[in-house]
Amino acid sequence: MKRFLFFDRGRRSLLGVFIVSVLAVQAIGQAVAPVARLSGPESDLSDKITVASIKEMTAALSSPEMEGRGTGQPGGDKAANWIADKFKSFGLKPLGDKGSYLQKVDFKETTATAETSFMAGDQSLAYGSEFALIPQNNGNKNVSGEMVFVSYAIQAKQSNVDMLEGANLSGKVVVMIEGPPPGFPKKSWEEQKAQRTIFRTVVLAGPSAVVFIGLGGEERPPEETISYISRRQITRPDEEGYPAVVPPMIYVSAQGAEKLFSKSGMTRKQALDQAATKEFKPINLKQKAKIVAKYESKKVTSNNVAGYLEGSDPKLKAEAVLFSAHYDAYGKENGKIYAGAADNALGTAEMLAVAEAYSKAAPKPKRSMVFLAVTGEEYGLYGSKYWAKEPTWDIKKVAANLNLDGIGSEVYGPVKTMVGYGAEHSSIGSMLDALAPAFEVNVIPDPMPDEKVFYRSDHYSFVERGVPALMLLGAPAGDKEVWMKRIKDWEKTDYHQPGDVIQPGWVWEGPERVAEVMAVLGWRISEADAMPTWLSTSRFAKLERGNAKELPEEK
Ligand SMILES: [Zn+2]
Repeated sequence: MKRFLFFDRGRRSLLGVFIVSVLAVQAIGQAVAPVARLSGPESDLSDKITVASIKEMTAALSSPEMEGRGTGQPGGDKAANWIADKFKSFGLKPLGDKGSYLQKVDFKETTATAETSFMAGDQSLAYGSEFALIPQNNGNKNVSGEMVFVSYAIQAKQSNVDMLEGANLSGKVVVMIEGPPPGFPKKSWEEQKAQRTIFRTVVLAGPSAVVFIGLGGEERPPEETISYISRRQITRPDEEGYPAVVPPMIYVSAQGAEKLFSKSGMTRKQALDQAATKEFKPINLKQKAKIVAKYESKKVTSNNVAGYLEGSDPKLKAEAVLFSAHYDAYGKENGKIYAGAADNALGTAEMLAVAEAYSKAAPKPKRSMVFLAVTGEEYGLYGSKYWAKEPTWDIKKVAANLNLDGIGSEVYGPVKTMVGYGAEHSSIGSMLDALAPAFEVNVIPDPMPDEKVFYRSDHYSFVERGVPALMLLGAPAGDKEVWMKRIKDWEKTDYHQPGDVIQPGWVWEGPERVAEVMAVLGWRISEADAMPTWLSTSRFAKLERGNAKELPEEK
């Protein structure tokens, strides 16, 4: 799954600074009487999905030879070819460029060079541990200025709060904290799009750089963010970065921040304590900062992998169910391999197991089945966005998308709980509800709405093009707080880190169940008289397949 950072969505919002977002309509899933049994073909299909196959394919994809399946790296190419070979062995027909299984996608890889530096007075901060540049793709920079600390930079005149009072930020290196401040409800901070507004105010004041002190909280320690943003960046070659006027943005750890305050007469801790008060006023840090942001870019390519099984109905076979999973992980960097076993070798293997089951199934589904393993997901859903824009199957005839993107909760035990991300938006939601009892699975609503998971994986690329979509998450029985805690703990240590490898304790019946549900859900979509539809209560209700207009910013 794509990483969630407060400035991730900032890029888009800065480009479209005055776009007003449309409020999402809270939709309610419609209950349908459960059909507790599978039909003959459905249980045959389900039986053809095996633990052995999923296990073997996950192991192959996350093996050291695949080098973390990096976008634009040899390991990524190796994985793409390996998946293409699997498709071929399943008897799928190629659905890539020029009769192949591969669809080429061009990228630009950008890396900060060794010249990149941050001096606070005469002390330097260490790149990759004490600071990192927030990727902004708007060129090399060499800037300096007096440092001024503005806390959260909140201006709320009606509450007598002005953390920028009297400060001239022009040419300064502005040091600030990422909100919300303690005691400010996170939800309302997000609803007001407060960070964006504040950031815009600060940038328009003309500073030479903006430095964020990462607080990040326990869930996302600043060191993790720094490790993440200091890696190579992947974008499309023609992608616009931040406007050139946006100055360098730097993220610093606690240790890095300490150096910024060393001449101010207060420690970082004292400054942060003051920062949390309504009375806060800007503090001159009494030293200069000098920042060099130097990048190296090169063009690279990577591939989506696509194949299909032709439907058996002469008419309906023109329509397809699109299964997807991203195969890329963070690849190889600085000698480390980011194997991405749970995210998303596992999801890819589950999708491959579905393809394998369909290839052996008799009878064949009425509609065609398209299987798509996408690249570049981690950097911004690039592979799926590319396919959605340059589809190799008529997008108007893509009945639905079913996506898998792991945080690995399906290996915690036999899967008894499932979440269908996107269920509240389309008729696929009630189809999932209807088949769940046959698998003794309890479907629950999104247990972590704050994480905005629905917008962070590949199915959303198809939603934007009007295709109803669902992403499946599997979890064990019992109190959701228990397994959610396990997810959160895992996110702290292994998610997007070299530690995401297959663990001996994984319960493989879980992934098997997820693949079975996905296969049968696909079957039901395939056999239905009509393609799934958006619910009238959904914010996507008016979208048609083939939609080309950009959607308003998510809520
Ligand atoms: Zn993922």
